[in-house]
Amino acid sequence: MTAGRFFVIGAGVAGLACAVRLALAGRPVTVFEAAGHAGGRCRSFHDAALDRRIDNGNHLLLSGNRSAQAYLADIGAADSLAGPGEAAFPFLDLVDGTRWTVRPNHGRLPWWILSPHRRVAGTRAADYLRGLRLARAGDATVAGCLDDGGAAYRRFWEPLAVAALNTAADEAAAALLWPVLRETFGRGAAACRPLIAREGLSESFVDPALALLAERQCPVHLNRRLRALTFDGDRVTALDLGGDPLSVGADDRVVLAVPPAAAADLVPGLTVPDGSRAIVNGHFRLPARRESLSFLGVVGGTAQWLFVRGDVVSATVSAADALAEAPASAIAEAIWHDIVRALDLGNAPLPAHRIVKERRATFAQTPAQSARRPGPRTAWSNLLLAGDWTDTGLPATIEGSVRSGHTAADAGRG
Ligand SMILES: Cc1cc2nc3c(=O)[nH]c(=O)nc-3n(C[C@H](O)[C@H](O)[C@H](O)COP(=O)(O)OP(=O)(O)OC[C@H]3O[C@@H](n4cnc5c(N)ncnc54)[C@H](O)[C@@H]3O)c2cc1C
Repeated sequence: MTAGRFFVIGAGVAGLACAVRLALAGRPVTVFEAAGHAGGRCRSFHDAALDRRIDNGNHLLLSGNRSAQAYLADIGAADSLAGPGEAAFPFLDLVDGTRWTVRPNHGRLPWWILSPHRRVAGTRAADYLRGLRLARAGDATVAGCLDDGGAAYRRFWEPLAVAALNTAADEAAAALLWPVLRETFGRGAAACRPLIAREGLSESFVDPALALLAERQCPVHLNRRLRALTFDGDRVTALDLGGDPLSVGADDRVVLAVPPAAAADLVPGLTVPDGSRAIVNGHFRLPARRESLSFLGVVGGTAQWLFVRGDVVSATVSAADALAEAPASAIAEAIWHDIVRALDLGNAPLPAHRIVKERRATFAQTPAQSARRPGPRTAWSNLLLAGDWTDTGLPATIEGSVRSGHTAADAGRG
């Protein structure tokens, strides 16, 4: 097979993972990104209100996210994630102040569910075995499969589903939660250590990839939006990036790693998920720096997960479409109220903060929307798709994005 050029459109994690894999295989790759920065929905920036560098949103990974780990190893950033030495998920229920820590054990046999000290307060082992229903969920929702009105649902299954699927549990696709369990909790403690970027998302997932691509002479052009594709027969023959059309040669391939709405605008007849869900993040300056990175799951309040890095505490609220309609000041008050209780901050007044509303954080991960996810191949022989919304079999996460980028790269290499 002749080695044609690859044009990757979109420098989010999916596009970068695709470009890096191709570059490492010695293929000539050029990336075009519409924004003035790479990273897409996974990026860091300096925030003036906090006078700190923050992430657009907290991103939690698990040590079992093997594609994400492979990507980080490829770009020389394997050590850039940090987390507790063991698989431990501390939680607080704001309704009654109960705290507990979920501690999966080593090995595949999940005996941790038999130990009241390792499972969620107020639950029984049988509550976790219900999770096996997810393996044959069909078109059911998470709530349809697992909601029995008990503590395990409210304190474990529902927070897990909302965090992983960014969709309320009563509409989230149960079938998408199963691979998360299978690839993490199902493989024991070594696969479910929680991990977050030590410095920032860009420092972990974006900047090292850009450095590798530069080193391999693979250009990444920012502020270059793909406006249209020219089709001839079963092939894409040109890219309209403004100015003169860029012709796509007989052996060249194009990977569209753009969000679903952008892909649908560019590719005639493409079916994509057309619903989305919001994530709201609140970032707050703490009175003092904390030496260790930490995180906490919260139920019964507005905040769902808290992450402490240095002197900034960041709260995540997923499936937050209703909350995103509220003014930032009201959101900040509600989240700070939870933080003060969770971190025992007494009467600490609302400090410098930033509320970030990502209204289209992910596609709506319902059974109906999941059925609209296309695979990597299109009706055109040299046009491939990547992105967290393509049919990876995984939720819309970094792990899914990386895997989609790798799949497109492998399919393009033939
Ligand atoms: C607030 C928030 C919190 C999250 N939390 C987590 C988490 O805890 N764990 C986790 O694993 N995942 C999390 N995610 C999901 C994760 O960020 C995404 O799955 C991932 O970043 C998607 O990457 P992508 O490359 O598929 O898409 P994108 O990041 O959307 O990249 C697409 C790129 O294409 C560009 N583009 C669009 N149109 C064009 C065009 N016409 N021409 C050229 N370029 C174009 C865009 O500018 C963008 O850079 C979170 C997401 C958000 C928003």
